[in-house]
Parts: sequence; C-alpha cells; structure tokens
Amino acid sequence: MPSKDMNFHTETGRLSLDWMATLGDRAGAPFERISGTADLGRWLATVAGQAVACGPSDDELRAAKSLRAALIGVIDRLYSGEEPAAQDIQVLNEFAALPPPAVQLGVSGRTLEANTDLSAQTVLGVIARDAIDLFTCSDFAKVRLCAAEGCSVYFVDHSRPGKRRWCSMSRCGNKAKKRAFTKRNSQRAQSLD
Ligand SMILES: [Zn+2]
Repeated sequence: MPSKDMNFHTETGRLSLDWMATLGDRAGAPFERISGTADLGRWLATVAGQAVACGPSDDELRAAKSLRAALIGVIDRLYSGEEPAAQDIQVLNEFAALPPPAVQLGVSGRTLEANTDLSAQTVLGVIARDAIDLFTCSDFAKVRLCAAEGCSVYFVDHSRPGKRRWCSMSRCGNKAKKRAFTKRNSQRAQSLD
C-alpha cells in the first residue's frame, strides 16, 4: 500500500493540473491535501505564487473544491475521449468569468508590481482560465496520467520524445525505479539459490 504523500504537486506543467493534484490517489483511495483554509492559503502562496491578502474564507475553500471537482470531472471525460458533463462545464465557466487580477507596472517601468491585494476567488478564476486554455490548445494532446500506482496525477509531457511516465521524477519516478531495482535483485538472488 503506497503511503500518502501530502506534499503539493508543482511539476505538472500547469497551474490547473497542480490544483487538481491536491486530491491524492483519485483512482484508488482518494485523500485530501487541502484539509482546511490554512492549507488552501499555503497552496495559493507556494504553488500558485499568489499570497492572498487575508487568508481564504470557508466559502472560498468550498468554492475552490467545487472548482476542483468540476475540473477533474471535465479532464477525466476528455482524457477518455468522452464529452464532459454539462454541469461541470457550467461550473468551470462561472469561475472563468471572475474578473482577472489587475496588472500594475512597477516603478522601474520594466517589471510588474507584485499584486498584494488578491483574493482567493480571483486566483480561482486564474486557475479556471488556465484549464480552459489547456483543454482547448494543442498541449492537451500531451496530457498524460502518471503511471505510478496510487498517484493519478495529470501532467503535460513537454519532453522531446514524449515518453514521460511520471508526474515527477523525484516522487513517483524514483520510487518506481527503486522498486524495479529491488525486484530485479531479488529475482537474481532467487536464481542463484
Ligand atoms: Zn505520480
């Protein structure tokens, strides 16, 4: 039984996929990486790079999870070549219609001013639009499901050969390599008996 890895995923290649990956082992024994508003605040600050002015509210946590459920609903269907549920598309579109964060030019005139008064809601809009962009662009053909048991994270395979199997080498990839190595060694030991 693989142990629960509570760390956030940051190597899927897309913010929206990183957000979907906060629900662990979807296909097996799902577990939650966002247990409360503090986890959501931490995810927004560290993964989305958007520290929100005041911590996310309970309503924003509920909204964030309903967006996640809709995103997963859509991508699971698309990935298996089916049409998504109308309800999921509607939820996704509602989030996508939220006003985008304001863009401000910094004093140097060459860099952006960090946005310090974002709400969690605004970032959910950013995530929803990122997902719509992914679903409708050619990169969607490069979306893969991590091959590791107990992971079920989607990622975009930007590698040139297009044969990436793991959501992250340092997580699932290395574990799988270690397992294969142990298996080979024990088989060799048996054959020497
Ligand atoms: Zn994985």
